[in-house]
Amino acid sequence: MALRENRANVTCMSFLSLGLTEPLQRAVAAWHYEEPTPIQAAAIPAILRGADVWASAQTGSGKTAAFALPLVQKLAAARRPHGRYVSALILVPTRELATQVVEAVRRYARYLPQPLKTLVAVGGLSINPQMLALGGGADLLVATPGRLLDLIDHNALSLAEVSVLVLDEADRLLDLGFKAELDRIVGLLPARRQSLLFSATFPPEVQTLAAALLRDPLRIETPDTAENTPEILQRVIEVDAPRRTQLLRHLVETNGWSGVLVFVATKYTCEHVAEKLVRAGIAAAALHGELSQGARTQALADLKAGKVKVLIATDLAARGIDIPKLPAVVNYDLPRSAVDYTHRIGRTGRAGEAGVAISFVSAGTHAHFRLIEKLHSLTLEREQIAGFEPRETEVVTPLVAPDGGGIKGRRKSKKDKIREVAARAVGEPVPVRVVPPRPARVVSPRTGGGF
Ligand code: AMP
Repeated sequence: MALRENRANVTCMSFLSLGLTEPLQRAVAAWHYEEPTPIQAAAIPAILRGADVWASAQTGSGKTAAFALPLVQKLAAARRPHGRYVSALILVPTRELATQVVEAVRRYARYLPQPLKTLVAVGGLSINPQMLALGGGADLLVATPGRLLDLIDHNALSLAEVSVLVLDEADRLLDLGFKAELDRIVGLLPARRQSLLFSATFPPEVQTLAAALLRDPLRIETPDTAENTPEILQRVIEVDAPRRTQLLRHLVETNGWSGVLVFVATKYTCEHVAEKLVRAGIAAAALHGELSQGARTQALADLKAGKVKVLIATDLAARGIDIPKLPAVVNYDLPRSAVDYTHRIGRTGRAGEAGVAISFVSAGTHAHFRLIEKLHSLTLEREQIAGFEPRETEVVTPLVAPDGGGIKGRRKSKKDKIREVAARAVGEPVPVRVVPPRPARVVSPRTGGGF
């Protein structure tokens, strides 16, 4: 791929000047979008003229509309699908994101004189209705890779006439291990097509994917200006791990949030914390990968509708999920990585709204949070809440052997590091590796402290 480092000049303008037709302009007006966000201003004209696009954007920056508005306009003007063919394919990493994206597309297509046929194909639901719905083809299919391939294997659709491919959250698709599926899907697409790739981060695997997929793409990077940066107040509260649920309950009761998304590390904690809050009379629900698709959809819909005030979720809900006007996110357990931190807190402070993101840190997780801060060049003040002051003190982990290391068996092994990251993510004290005079090596007992 000859990548044209054609960084878009992102400036503010009106939807009128972007080349959108009247039905699309009516749709954005109906949704009270007054002006395009920077990524929309850059991407919409490029997509309309048929260019491949490789874009990154802040969470909540209007990325979906940036590809969905021009895509809808192109599909409205294109030949109708037939047989088992689909005209446009959007690949997403999660079922929730698939539903959200198709809902956005339908919103933007609402005023077209001829309706578009838009379908979703995701796992966790019976395949038969999806196969039936694909009869006669579709203008647009939003799919997760696994289910898409199942449908192809059942002969329910063909990708041979896809004219536009969108990869949304490409880095997450790869994180979730969809590389082999993506390779197979790309092999089934026609060579002549338009490809759009959206990714929050650009690890080498995404760059390889981009090189394989895109032809002379327009590279769009929205600058980190105050205007593009979500207004999220980041707070860090010190609390002993076993008291986190009580503190959470206190915060929910005293802050008057209309809704809050709480991230935890495991399905067990998810259920357990939700149950405790419900018993305390708080409208809470759990969202994790072991629930049925119906229950997952319902939990999110209930939070959006205000029926549920506190949604306890695993990282399943960290990416792409749009809960308009969500005022708060809580990291009950810290995220594993600095990138996950960005995605989690990005569920609040969306579309110009202000939000607060609170992270709980306990004796065993201070060091992990400092690492997240370091990677984001952040220094956040530590707070304590009256009545919840921590009693446990930080477990100090020497990063290198006091003698400077360099002796075989005295540096942390890869396994030690993995264990530490896992322990930190679930809020357990990190197994401390004390380095005494050789040859003894002691690993501290893992005391309680997880939820
Ligand atoms: P996204 O980043 O695509 O998840 O979008 C985040 C939120 O911003 C969604 O609720 C969109 O409806 C909203 N949105 C998208 N574009 C605009 C715009 N130009 N003006 C105001 N809100 C927007």
